[in-house]
Amino acid sequence: MTWQQRIDSALEQRRANDSFRIRQVNQQGSGRYLVQNQTRYLNFSSNDYLGMSHHAQVIQAWQQGAETYGVGSGGSGHVTGYHETHQQFEQQLADWLGFPRALLFISGFAANQALIAALTEKSDRIIADKLSHASLLEAAMNSPAQLRRFTHNDVPSLQALLAHPHEGQQLVVTEGVFSMDGDAAPLAEIAQISRNAGALLMVDDAHGIGVMGEEGRGSCDQQQIKPDLLVVTFGKAFGAGGAAVLCSESLADYLLQFARHLIYSTAMPPAQACALSAALNVIRHDESRRAQLRANIAHFRSGAAQLPLKLMASQTAIQPLIVGENQAAVNLASTMRERGFWMTAIRPPTVPPGTARLRVTLTASHTADDIDKLLEALYDATR
Ligand SMILES: *Cc1c(COP(=O)(O)O)cnc(C)c1O
Repeated sequence: MTWQQRIDSALEQRRANDSFRIRQVNQQGSGRYLVQNQTRYLNFSSNDYLGMSHHAQVIQAWQQGAETYGVGSGGSGHVTGYHETHQQFEQQLADWLGFPRALLFISGFAANQALIAALTEKSDRIIADKLSHASLLEAAMNSPAQLRRFTHNDVPSLQALLAHPHEGQQLVVTEGVFSMDGDAAPLAEIAQISRNAGALLMVDDAHGIGVMGEEGRGSCDQQQIKPDLLVVTFGKAFGAGGAAVLCSESLADYLLQFARHLIYSTAMPPAQACALSAALNVIRHDESRRAQLRANIAHFRSGAAQLPLKLMASQTAIQPLIVGENQAAVNLASTMRERGFWMTAIRPPTVPPGTARLRVTLTASHTADDIDKLLEALYDATR
């Protein structure tokens, strides 16, 4: 098979089973509204949970940072790219989350790849929740270590794998809040059994940070645990982009030696660190955004319970409505779109067969009236 044949055949396969992915161009997409082709939709697909992407102080901090430092960092953090703004923001994160150190990464995807690659060796075992994010599972599959997946949020399943005879070290991987079901991991129990087994625990809290816990400290704070490695990302509740790893002094020093995504990649623009720092100040001290989000979640759930669709147990901003068949989910998403509501149908293989769904995400930018309109349209569309 030639290269061209291989590429054509892969594309053909995607088209044949209705899983061909395309991107759509938006004029606006992160906030309360999504604007596409001059049409404005109420946006129920954004991860901008606290509405930070358009916060005036954050925008101003980014602009001022760019004026002071320029738009780029100029190099890897190991060469000339590490600025005082990075250092200050890392310190701010470490203080907020109660860890000795924080290291910035360009994205959550890069952070997860870097950590797993830098830490694991051939004799080791990575024990990850079955529903872990692609960035985690892919990194684990690429690692020379063995990958074992435990049943989603199932402590006995994790326990059984941890008890299995092994040679090297064990790394337990889970998320705080899972992106497709919106449910939370039983972190307190996972931390306890990981510690008892001498395993290192890594928690990716992409969907919990900023939203859960005291001052938005996330899922780990809410469940009163401290993992060995906490990954937080800034593309969701922070409304921007980038990520950080929180850990001990020695783990941070180790990652500075061996995390290739840090060493061989241009550091985050310093102005972005200024913006993130401004976002963190708002996230810590503006409880009203979390309160609005909580109210929106409660409002949506009480209304959605009347729909002929399965509402999942999620208490978070991610509220999937299970439709079942792929085509039915796609049709419902498109009907909702015609009525001015933007949300995505999620289909297998991203979710298990037979559980195609509308993935509704709520944010603090939505008003009670937005939620009422959404519920009304859902009633009409499913009647
Ligand atoms: C979004 C997400 C990531 C990726 O983070 P980016 O900063 O967008 O690369 C990693 N893990 C989880 C669980 C996520 O939801």
